[in-house]
Amino acid sequence: MSREDYEVVIGLEVHAELSTETKIFCSCPTKFGAEPNTQTCPICMAMPGTLPVLNEKVVEYAVKAGLATNCTISQDSKNDRKNYFYPDLPKAYQISQYDKPLCEHGYVEIETENGPKKIRILRIHIEEDAGKLNHDDFGGGSLVDLNRAGVPLIETVSEPDMRSIEEAEQYLRKLKSIFEYIEVSDCKMQEGSFRADVNVSVRKKGDSKLGTRTEMKNMNSFRSIARAIEYEIDRQIDVIENGEKVEQETLRWDDVSGKTFSMRDKEDAQDYRYFPEPDLVAIKLSDEYIENVRKTLPELPESRKARYLTEYKLSEKDANIITSSKHLSDLFEEASSICKNSKAVNNWIISDISRILNEEEMEPSEIPFNSEQLAKMVVLIDKGTISSSIGKKVLEELFANPKDPEEIIKEKGWIQISDEGAIKEIVLKIIEANPQSVVDYKAGKDRAIGFLVGQAMKETKGKANPQMLNKMFIEELKK
Ligand code: ADP
Ligand code: ZN
Ligand code: MG
Repeated sequence: MSREDYEVVIGLEVHAELSTETKIFCSCPTKFGAEPNTQTCPICMAMPGTLPVLNEKVVEYAVKAGLATNCTISQDSKNDRKNYFYPDLPKAYQISQYDKPLCEHGYVEIETENGPKKIRILRIHIEEDAGKLNHDDFGGGSLVDLNRAGVPLIETVSEPDMRSIEEAEQYLRKLKSIFEYIEVSDCKMQEGSFRADVNVSVRKKGDSKLGTRTEMKNMNSFRSIARAIEYEIDRQIDVIENGEKVEQETLRWDDVSGKTFSMRDKEDAQDYRYFPEPDLVAIKLSDEYIENVRKTLPELPESRKARYLTEYKLSEKDANIITSSKHLSDLFEEASSICKNSKAVNNWIISDISRILNEEEMEPSEIPFNSEQLAKMVVLIDKGTISSSIGKKVLEELFANPKDPEEIIKEKGWIQISDEGAIKEIVLKIIEANPQSVVDYKAGKDRAIGFLVGQAMKETKGKANPQMLNKMFIEELKK
């Protein structure tokens, strides 16, 4: 059978670190990047005799995430111990949730080529993060940093509903944008605050039974996730085509070799010896509590998108790109309202800003300039103080060294030449230097004007007013 006869099935478990000030069971700070073991206390270091106290904010954020993803919120929930031994887990168990998660049976909607599709969410539960092992350059051993131990997480488990790499990526992007909108997590993938366990299986098209899955843990870049799924699909099809069976196992994706490697056989739930956490009370939520959390939900991407189509007349495609990130979306709305030219702001975001983000592999939230600075640049172009090609240079400056665009153009001497006399001088100079274009124009080739304007822009390093150039070239050549 060929590859086309197979279908891929993907299910994702996403861990998002919550942006609470303090950890889930103690009052240590959660800030990323501090010196090792400076954000620890006897509780998160698992000293004997210490007791956990559940951070109320964690419950609130998890409920918020559940409501934003159409889940049912459980009014009767609890914590459970998940037992396993690993050096970064000082208690030798993780406090998580087993049979009574806070949120269940939700969905998020993604766009596919066949229209919108619901990806179902099985559950969202709260748990604590583990510490981190740093491999020691001197002693050859490993050092444990417990700053991350006890940082609150929500784990969102999807049903195995995705059928392609694109769908998996769309789902992740959607979930990430929802968590960013509701501000429960900063979702910084490079800092590990949004990471996915990727479950992949293949089956023959038309089969109703799912194939055996493998799982790749802790993936934190869209690119590696796509590459890893692609590799796994090929590998599993080869295994089946060779008459063998895919083993259910945990794999490690290696970005350098572009391959997956076996880590360990998959443990069953019973290997974890789950049992109710005896040091914490049950979590009982009233209707009123849940409704109060619902009231704190901001406008979500879906609704913003609908508004952008009607209110700002954006194209479906542009509205999707802009609302995929809360940061871009806020930037768009704020800058538009300041400069009153939403069309221009839209164009800058979709074209040059997106391109730079891509090239620099930056997240929208890392954009260093603010909406006021972007708006000011648009106004400078609208007023004719700078040309749009100078605008591109100003934008690059805003990324490199953000400040008031007016200051940038003064410092760099980028103010547009709109003085008639100066423009005329340039036009005459360019005409004299390009006699062939003059002949071409007189022979009816209107395109020659474009070439001459281009030469004049080059001569002035993009500073001449292009409309004036255009007009004056035509006037001169018609003489
Ligand atoms: P575990 O914690 O043991 O990995 P979970 O039930 O928490 O188990 O998560 C299983 C994940 O794997 C879910 O996201 C689910 O959608 C996905 N999954 C289950 N079966 C398959 C399969 N046959 N192919 C692909 N994904 C699957
Ligand atoms: Zn602590
Ligand atoms: Mg798993």
